Amino acid sequence: MAARETKPVVIIGAGPVGMVAALALHRRDVPVVVLEAEAAPVKDQRAASTQPPTIEMLAALGLEAKIMERGLVSTSFRFFDRISGARVAEFDCGLLKDDTPFPFVLQHEQFKLVDTILKMMAGVPGWTVRFRARHVAHEQSGDGVSVSIETPDGTETIEASYLIGCDGGHSSVRRAAGIAFEGFTFPEKFIKIGTTFDFQRAGRDYVFRNYFSDPDEWCNLFKVRGDGPPGIWRCVFPCRIGESDEAALSPEGCEARLHKFFPDFRDFEVAYRSIYSVSQRVAETFRKGRVCLAGDAAHVNNPIGGLGMNGGIHDAMSLAPKLADVWRGHADSAELDLYTRQRRRAQHDFVQEQTIRNKRELEEKDQAVRARNLDALRRVSEDPARARDYLRRATLIDSLKTVAAVA
Ligand SMILES: Cc1cc2nc3c(=O)[nH]c(=O)nc-3n(C[C@H](O)[C@H](O)[C@H](O)COP(=O)(O)OP(=O)(O)OC[C@H]3O[C@@H](n4cnc5c(N)ncnc54)[C@H](O)[C@@H]3O)c2cc1C
Repeated sequence: MAARETKPVVIIGAGPVGMVAALALHRRDVPVVVLEAEAAPVKDQRAASTQPPTIEMLAALGLEAKIMERGLVSTSFRFFDRISGARVAEFDCGLLKDDTPFPFVLQHEQFKLVDTILKMMAGVPGWTVRFRARHVAHEQSGDGVSVSIETPDGTETIEASYLIGCDGGHSSVRRAAGIAFEGFTFPEKFIKIGTTFDFQRAGRDYVFRNYFSDPDEWCNLFKVRGDGPPGIWRCVFPCRIGESDEAALSPEGCEARLHKFFPDFRDFEVAYRSIYSVSQRVAETFRKGRVCLAGDAAHVNNPIGGLGMNGGIHDAMSLAPKLADVWRGHADSAELDLYTRQRRRAQHDFVQEQTIRNKRELEEKDQAVRARNLDALRRVSEDPARARDYLRRATLIDSLKTVAAVA
């Protein structure tokens, strides 16, 4: 067993995963320094759906009251056949009441999680967050990591005991560590349009989370609180292959996509819109010596099912206790290999598998297969025992249980 460390753990990236990793380590009395390239917290409108086990983890960190206050409780989700307009299935998260104290999904935007943690921890000893501090390189030695950053005042080196890359899909930490990012990128991009148009009030039986199967243009339709009430509806669609970003993001392009839902309406007020390229990739390892990866730096997936950030927060909550033990000299650094084994398994067998299947099923073009899939989904939703099993997998409860047994 090594001696107790003295230098802080340095975390690159003040996104949701970096902030949760920092808080979870700090709760175990490990000093942390978070370095963020941007000048201020990013108002990122990507993740919102926070799954039940993730709510449990955030509650254990003392965040329950704040996230509940700023989020929207979504008790069920629905699948629609966009061609016929029929509702195919509804899954009631209440079926998870014996599995979790939070049998619902919380629609809580990722920037609110970052903001809450930043405000709660400001000025606390052992806690440092620096903006305009971009990781550019690092060098490991036997007893630490020298981290080179670029700041407005020039280049600086910070000495860390361990380094965690939580710096997103294009992770500079992962590249500098020479860790391969295995997988593929979809040929089509995804567009997300946020609108103040109230889809529920407009007379359809939508809930706060809706999935639409359509061989030409599937859709995910969600509600978030935003700065509301009344809140914002977010629609995610695939772009056409070859469609330019400018055309998709233009007012006419956004209007046309929303108009398809409600042909009688025009002039949808667009609150925000973005385009993403989407990949399914997992890093070959989540640990190389004193460098670890978590969140999108370690894995990326398509957003259908709302699992990317959740899986990243699960990484942070798996890594923090192991790294805290290693940092204190209470465990061998082999603990960090256990982290990589457990979390890579969670990715491959659950997050990657599910999100790839979710996309394939929503966009299925073969009519017979599509009808079979929708019918199978309906039958699962109508059988409470099978629906509960489905929900346990969809919310990552099963993923956590399975990987806890990985030695
Ligand atoms: C349309 C869409 C919807 C989504 N919805 C959901 C959802 O509902 N639920 C869900 O679980 N997931 C969802 N996701 C996925 C989710 O957004 C990501 O998984 C999540 O943002 C990952 O968090 P992170 O902290 O790992 O990385 P990021 O959020 O990407 O944060 C990385 C941070 O690192 C900083 N950074 C980058 N490089 C450097 C550097 N060199 N030095 C210092 N700082 C650096 C960045 O500025 C950023 O602040 C969605 C994704 C998309 C595209």
